Amino acid sequence: MPLNNAQDLSSRQHVKMPHDLSSGQEGISLLSPVRNLNGVGERVADRLSRLGITTIKDLLFHLPMRYQDRTHILPIGSLKIGDEAVIQGEVLLTEVRFGRRRMLLSRISDGTGSLTLRFFHFTARQKENLARGTWIRCFGEVRKGSATLEMIHPEYRRIDKETVVEVDEYLTPVYPTTEGVRQPILRTLISKALDILGSELAGNSINADIAAGDGAVLQDWIPPKVLESLDLPLLEQAIRFAHRPSPETSISSLQDNSHPMLRRLAFEELLVHQLCFKQLRRKTQRHTAPSFNVQGKLMKKFLEQLPFALTPAQRKVIGDIINDFAVNHPMQRLVQGDVGSGKTVVAAATVLHAVEAGYQAVVMAPTEILAEQHYRNFATWLKPLNIEVAWLTGKSKGKARREILESLVSGHAAVAIGTHALFQDDVEFAKLGYVVIDEQHRFGVHQRLILREKGKHQGCYPHQLIMTATPIPRTLAMTAYADLDISVINELPPGRQAVTTVIVPDMRRDEVLQRVRQVCGNGRQIYWVCTLIEESESLQCQAAIDTADQLRQDFPELNIGLVHGRIKTQEKECVMSAFKEGRIDLLVATTVVEVGVDVPNASLMVVENAERLGLAQLHQLRGRIGRGSEKSTCVLMYHPPLSVQGKARLAALRDTSDGFEIARRDMELRGPGEILGTRQTGMLEFRVADLLRDQDLIPQVSNTADLLLARFPERAKVIVRRWLGNAAQYGSV
Ligand code: ADP
Ligand code: MG
Repeated sequence: MPLNNAQDLSSRQHVKMPHDLSSGQEGISLLSPVRNLNGVGERVADRLSRLGITTIKDLLFHLPMRYQDRTHILPIGSLKIGDEAVIQGEVLLTEVRFGRRRMLLSRISDGTGSLTLRFFHFTARQKENLARGTWIRCFGEVRKGSATLEMIHPEYRRIDKETVVEVDEYLTPVYPTTEGVRQPILRTLISKALDILGSELAGNSINADIAAGDGAVLQDWIPPKVLESLDLPLLEQAIRFAHRPSPETSISSLQDNSHPMLRRLAFEELLVHQLCFKQLRRKTQRHTAPSFNVQGKLMKKFLEQLPFALTPAQRKVIGDIINDFAVNHPMQRLVQGDVGSGKTVVAAATVLHAVEAGYQAVVMAPTEILAEQHYRNFATWLKPLNIEVAWLTGKSKGKARREILESLVSGHAAVAIGTHALFQDDVEFAKLGYVVIDEQHRFGVHQRLILREKGKHQGCYPHQLIMTATPIPRTLAMTAYADLDISVINELPPGRQAVTTVIVPDMRRDEVLQRVRQVCGNGRQIYWVCTLIEESESLQCQAAIDTADQLRQDFPELNIGLVHGRIKTQEKECVMSAFKEGRIDLLVATTVVEVGVDVPNASLMVVENAERLGLAQLHQLRGRIGRGSEKSTCVLMYHPPLSVQGKARLAALRDTSDGFEIARRDMELRGPGEILGTRQTGMLEFRVADLLRDQDLIPQVSNTADLLLARFPERAKVIVRRWLGNAAQYGSV
């Protein structure tokens, strides 16, 4: 039979000949290197290792991304656009069409309908093979064509109308590939691995010894009770199924992972992740940290001088932290709280606890602006208590910088506020005991570990508190921060005004300007935010400058200020304080105000090109208003047309002011990777699991991880190793 296409259907016939393949492969076990398989030379082995495959067992854990159904031949008349299907029929007509692009068109029919095959690359031979009257079988995606449905570059082969040609026995897995290792090779190799698994089955009993090697490779180490309660099958069944789903399986249940077999795999994959993180946490917990057993006099004084009382949620979180401090192991705690829930005060109060115990504390912020704001707050709060606060950023240079470093190493400054600059190599502390990291939800576990190591001093680790800028859904937090304890500030201080949010296209700018006039007429102030243009800070600054010019023309009677990333700190401070004191009516700003000042008199915020920002960032921005007694409004201007998703995102923001709810919707719309910003770190990339879809599993996964680590640590190790192989390095840096 002639092969007309490189990816001809016959390349998958391995499925039907397991016995041929196992010949000459005796003595091979699942733990043998892939190199031992017939047909795997050094080059292929090398390429496989790029996919994380070094042993035959690893092939079993190389799970399909999706499936194709080549188990039935569908009548052409029943095809729908988007189907991937096997069809067969007789060629009615084949011709070369000359147009903007030369192409080969072949019309086929099976009596129920006709369909066009379209080839942009073809040979004369191919055209001959598709002569009128020939019978062919094709596999491809069904698309809409001008006259009939079409398949573009389908896989196909000629068949003999008289003899019955078999279809596949199983749904066809589609695997992640890498250069030089294509689907057919992977399918063949994985099939061999399944055959080896089959022949080893006899040795696989529930009581298998952990050390028993092969027999235990696919042993179920998840307690049967857990599997029963979730109605999940055994691992081995699930693995077999994932590679060879039976033809009656619904493709959609595979595609969306709702199939119990795939959920079983997702469960274990998530479990592996939890085990790694929790192991890491246990390791951390074995380290020594200073214990701060003090009365809390400083904290008490500080709280007494505040113009408000703490909310019960703030008190609870401070309590959690003080409890952690009392133990001589490093705290690793995450505080989640909505914008404006008062995390800074929590940080300050607990910093004072450390200081009272005779230790230094650092507060690290992600941006210069935020560091500056924290510095101002801390200096105001702590100076009356006679506590020296140092401020170190990337902009601290020369003599000033040397003096700051000196005050830290001598211990003269008890508290340091700053950016990443705090963790440069030449920054040393006399007695660092507590590290607060603000707004670093974009931090992956590796960065957290690096910071922890940096704070290490004479075998002692500082306590670490991480405060997130934006809340993330609980199950996501349990996964991304499985190495941390989590506290939540779940209420806002009393008396906050709800902000009304409106969404308008930028054609209606005039109406927005009218609103501006009104608000200023009432003596209130306004933020006008210009958003990021293609990630370029300088373009963003220019946009803000242009907007300010325009608004100055529109409103000659108003005092219009401007801040952006290019303006010198001193000047920025001048503008900010002028805004704060009401000498500026309208402040044009880039997103730097996201974490900016507190101006209760500002009651209107206009955000230009709001569709460019993430929900969380918009929520942060909006948190700048609604801080006074006046009813506040946030106008989200967008540039039409807005995508369906874009609409949904802005609507989510309009409909709720609850940061946790916004985070939940953001996760649904953009996926967990975008929200965490950790996609690039690869920490949350799963083969089968999907944090959004499988979130209901996560609490159980977390409990199971705890159970395994407490009662069966050996099993935990085996589970991790079989999924991650030698890459299982989460636990060590
Ligand atoms: P965030 O959690 O977003 O970091 P901040 O710590 O900046 O919030 O606090 C927002 C504002 O709320 C600040 O002006 C702060 O002084 C004020 N604040 C904090 N806690 C309380 C409270 N318990 N009662 C009233 N106002 C508070
Ligand atoms: Mg804050």
